[in-house]
Amino acid sequence: MAGTSEPAALEQTSSVHVIPGDGPRTVRREVGLDVLLITVDTLRADALGVYGNRHAATPWMDRLAAAGVRFENARAHNVVTLPSHATILSGLSPLKHGVRDNSGFRFPSEAETLATLLEAEGYRTGAFVSAFPLDSRFGLARGFDVYEDSFVDTGIKPAFFEQERPGSETVALAKRWLEVVDERPSFAWVHIYEPHFPYAPPAPLASRFMNDPYLGDVAAADAALSPLLQPLLEAADRGNTLVILTSDHGESLGEHGEATHGIFGYEAALKVPLVLYQPRLLGPKLVSGPVRLVDILPTVLDVLSIPVPGDLDGGSLLPIAAGVSVEDIGETYFEALSGQLNRGWAPLHGVIRRGWKYIDLPIPELYELTEDPNEEINLALREPGQAKELGDLLRNLRASDAGVTPRAESAETRERLRSLGYLGGGSSPVKESYSEDDDPKRLIALDSMLREITGLYERGDLERARLRCRELVRRRPGMRVALMQLGQIERDLGNLDAAVDAMQAALTLNPEDTTTLAVLASYLVQAGRAGDAAALTEPHFRQTRPDVDVLFSRSLALARIGKVEEALAALEKARDVDPGNPMVPVYFGTVYLMDGRRSQARSSYEEALALNPNTVRAHTSLAILASEEGQVEASLSNWRKAVALDPREHAKLFAVAGRMWSAGQKAQARPLLELFVESAPPETFGKEIGRVLDLLAAGD
Ligand SMILES: [Zn+2]
Repeated sequence: MAGTSEPAALEQTSSVHVIPGDGPRTVRREVGLDVLLITVDTLRADALGVYGNRHAATPWMDRLAAAGVRFENARAHNVVTLPSHATILSGLSPLKHGVRDNSGFRFPSEAETLATLLEAEGYRTGAFVSAFPLDSRFGLARGFDVYEDSFVDTGIKPAFFEQERPGSETVALAKRWLEVVDERPSFAWVHIYEPHFPYAPPAPLASRFMNDPYLGDVAAADAALSPLLQPLLEAADRGNTLVILTSDHGESLGEHGEATHGIFGYEAALKVPLVLYQPRLLGPKLVSGPVRLVDILPTVLDVLSIPVPGDLDGGSLLPIAAGVSVEDIGETYFEALSGQLNRGWAPLHGVIRRGWKYIDLPIPELYELTEDPNEEINLALREPGQAKELGDLLRNLRASDAGVTPRAESAETRERLRSLGYLGGGSSPVKESYSEDDDPKRLIALDSMLREITGLYERGDLERARLRCRELVRRRPGMRVALMQLGQIERDLGNLDAAVDAMQAALTLNPEDTTTLAVLASYLVQAGRAGDAAALTEPHFRQTRPDVDVLFSRSLALARIGKVEEALAALEKARDVDPGNPMVPVYFGTVYLMDGRRSQARSSYEEALALNPNTVRAHTSLAILASEEGQVEASLSNWRKAVALDPREHAKLFAVAGRMWSAGQKAQARPLLELFVESAPPETFGKEIGRVLDLLAAGD
């Protein structure tokens, strides 16, 4: 803590400014308040009206901020979802909790979080999250009575197809839980994902924000929160809830050449809103000094008069919020490691202190934020003294950095790859040293190319997507995300050997990454190499907490080579790891079907629907089973649910019903084909709808 209390010194260093005059001058605390933590993913501070954005439509968050304590300069420490939420919940910097990226890491099972600490104080605890990076498998669910992440119900696929749930649904689940009558105080964490790419605001926001769809998504997030915020705002100082509103990171929106977030540590990605709201304790206030996400947990505990654990990286902001302290909170550490871990680029670490910001890269950067808030003038060469001082500070902060060293298991996975005949580059994502050619500033254009390829893929232009992706892999062979994307494209084109090659190359670059392992294993099965898939997933299977997607791929591989009991053992393990996951019974069903055990398969799919009625794969599988048994009504009703939940299932409906028709089962196929015609979106399935209409007209 570089504390100081002299106003003159404060001005010079621009460290902390508290707007005086309003709000109480004594620190007030209250035992047993309800706590509501709202994290709006990917929310830049300046995307809110109350933070000065004149185009924003964020009335609810604005009202909360205006009635509460608003921190103008709050920063994240990491620029992707899982590490940053781990920090918000634990009060630990990524250096200490060790979660450095969305995949390949798990929150430590012994670390305390707001959930474990408040649960120990007699709170009931509920988390309601909206996107896959916060799935319970990554370790944040501990301490929560309820961890609502049941939107995750699709198959194994590369991480760039992120699964999410609309904020309004997440908020409705949270409200239902909050309305349960219970003696105990509650801690609810509500996470909504609207502002995350791709930007797709609903009507009428879509047309209103045609030129700024990101702001449209922010407006959608605000609207989704209104059922939570409105009653709290109406209750004002009669309310018993402490609200914390923040985000995990911002969004670059093209600044410095970055479209979204994850690569750079500029202010666009680091600065997030932070609002504390509890009108009985805290008057409206604007705090402009720097604060950090690590400060949230100690602040909440302090407000509730709960002792703050001593080994945290942050401190309570309550004295600053109450206006009794102008203490400098010290430096802000930050990092961006997705470039290193997913692309083989140089890692980015940095520190901000007293208005100076240093970014440690092969081409180092130094900015004076007060004069140059957009970070356009790199002073690293002109101010070597300042650069060295901050560089030393950063080295000290990182002295205990356990880093991103691969686990022993990954060496074994690498060995398996070699034994399968894969002799790829073998370079690790963690190199000994990086040159200026590895600096993300020089490579960010490759990320735009990746985005272009995703766009081509999503529009169905697979051939051009493949050409561009091959070119990208040639230009930068160590870019793991490009290899994963190439693998997906090749698979969709039916080139399974090429798909396997690309995924093997990706896995060699980071054997820690369980998504790559799961996807590669599933491609091997599809390519007729189930034995290889079983061998490859074996080391991971022996882990204490293996990844469920890897277990799913493994179960299919084993079932395919006739080792049904081992396949079921893999799924038993998946059930231990993630008991509420409806995909566990779905895979049980698939393995039973492969073994000819139809009635057990049916009960498994029904079990999946009992866990989550929106499990598309369970509906589709039950529909097909029913068709095969001549139960037309049951088949029709399951298909109806499947295509309503996921319109892409129309492709499967068309294929299955078409096959039945060709096989002469016209009476059974007819209602399914009629369902296809009436519900398939014509813009995607125009040609198929035409063909079905012709078939039905020609009839019997
Ligand atoms: Zn995020």
